[in-house]
Amino acid sequence: MADCIFCKIIAGQIPAAMLLETDRVVSFLDINPVNPGHALIVPRRHVATLLELNQDELHVAIYAARRVAAAVTEEVGSPAFNLLQNNGRCAGQLIDHVHFHVIPRNPDDGFSLGWRQLQYEEGELKAMQEAIRARL
Ligand code: 5GP
Ligand code: ZN
Repeated sequence: MADCIFCKIIAGQIPAAMLLETDRVVSFLDINPVNPGHALIVPRRHVATLLELNQDELHVAIYAARRVAAAVTEEVGSPAFNLLQNNGRCAGQLIDHVHFHVIPRNPDDGFSLGWRQLQYEEGELKAMQEAIRARL
């Protein structure tokens, strides 16, 4: 994709702090990290979201994410990390080339995902379960 920043990084047209390059996937440091060591794992093939990756591509990407997460947390001395993956603008995706974030986490590091916890009304949970199961 001509106007994709991540495709340009993969093609070597713009610089990035590369961590890992294989025939299927690359990983480099996020330019504006949540915490130092924040890394991105990016399949070489340009697709926008997770839904367009096939099983093999996903396997390669998630295994690379595991490798990178182990190296990053070891290097920065973090006891924890988040593996995040945004799909679509309202989910926070800014770059439309599928990628995974590995974010090393430390106690009291000032970052919060702002997780909320809604409640289902009576019967809603079961109806949701059945509706989704019917689509699988
Ligand atoms: P998204 O919001 O799409 O899940 O995440 C995109 C990420 O890409 C952001 O965390 C942002 O900092 C990072 N990013 C955007 N442009 C560049 C760039 O040119 N180089 C690098 N290394 N990271 C970038
Ligand atoms: Zn791309």
